[in-house]
Amino acid sequence: MGVLFSTANPSASVSQDLDQLEETAKKCDQLWFDDGNVIILAGGTLFRIHRGILAAHSAVFQDILSAPRLEEPAIMDDCPFVQLPDDARDVEEFLKVYYVPGYLDFLTARLPLSVCGILRMSQKYGSLTCRRLVVRKLNVSIPTTFSQASMTFGLWQDLSYIPPGPSSCTFGYERSLLSCVIATASQCHIRAFLPSLFYMLGPLEVQSSETLDGQDSGCTAATAHICMAGWARLMQDFREIALASFIGNTSPCSRCDSRKLLCLRNPKNRKTFFGAPFQPLFLKPHALIRELPGLCDRCAAAMEKDIEQANEHVWHDLPVYFGLPRWDILLAELAEILRET
Ligand SMILES: [Zn+2]
Repeated sequence: MGVLFSTANPSASVSQDLDQLEETAKKCDQLWFDDGNVIILAGGTLFRIHRGILAAHSAVFQDILSAPRLEEPAIMDDCPFVQLPDDARDVEEFLKVYYVPGYLDFLTARLPLSVCGILRMSQKYGSLTCRRLVVRKLNVSIPTTFSQASMTFGLWQDLSYIPPGPSSCTFGYERSLLSCVIATASQCHIRAFLPSLFYMLGPLEVQSSETLDGQDSGCTAATAHICMAGWARLMQDFREIALASFIGNTSPCSRCDSRKLLCLRNPKNRKTFFGAPFQPLFLKPHALIRELPGLCDRCAAAMEKDIEQANEHVWHDLPVYFGLPRWDILLAELAEILRET
C-alpha cells in the first residue's frame, strides 16, 4: 500500500510543510466540506471529504483510511491528511460520482474523457460499485449486440455523421479520446467494449501513413496496427459476401444482372465496395447502397438480404478481427461486471 499514499509522521517540519501546502495548494470548492473528516491531496488540489463515504465504496480506501494507519497522521485543519499519487482531475471526477447527485447521468450522451479517469480510479481503488455504474452508462453508447450496433451506428449516419478530420474519426469522436477509452477499457478488463471502440477508431487509421508510428494520432502504434489489420479483414469479409448479390451469384436474373453491375458504378457504391476510405457498416442496406435502379422486387430483396448478412457476419467476427475472444466470452465478462453484488 505504501506506493498508493503517504501519511507523513507528524513532526515540526511536516506541520510546517502542511502550513505551506495550505497556502499553495488549491482547494476544490465543490469537494471541500467544512464537516469533512479527512483531507486528500492529489496533484496540487485539496479535497476535504468524509472517511465513511470513501471507505463504504472502496476496499482500498477503507484500508488507507483505517484507524491504525491514521493513528498518528499528519494533521491539516484538524483533519488527518492523505496524499494520493493520482491526477487531480481523476480524483475529482471519481469523488463527484459519490458526492454530486446524478453526476453519471451527465456522462451518457457522449464519451467524455472523465469516464477514463473514473474507471482508472475505481479499478485502482477497488470500487466495484463505481465501476459497475460507469460501465452501465457506457453500455448504452457502446454497442455490444448487433441490433444495438445497427441502431447506434445507423443513427450516427443519419443524424450526426461527421466526416473524419485530421484528429477525429468517422463518428466524430476525437481519435485521442477513443484511444484513451480503448487503453482504459483494456487496463480495467472491460473487453466487451473493445470491438466497437476499435471499429469506431478504425477507418481513419488506414488512410494516413503518419498514423503508423503513432504520430499525431493520439493513439499508440500497437492500437493503430490492431485497427488497420482488423479493418482490412472485416472489409474484405463484408465485400466478399455483399458483392455476391451484385454479380448475380445469389439471385441470377436475366432482366437485372446488367443493372446490378451499373449500380456498382455509382461513385458512392464504388467507394463502399472497392476503395478506401472505408465506409461505416451496420447500416440498413438502403443507407449503404445508394442506387438500385429499377431492379425487380426479387433482386432488390435478395440484395438487401445479402448486405444484411454481410453486416451480421462482420458483427459476429468483430472481436476476432481485433484480436479479442469471441462475443460469448466478452459478454459473459460484461455480465459479471454488471452483476449486483
Ligand atoms: Zn431481377
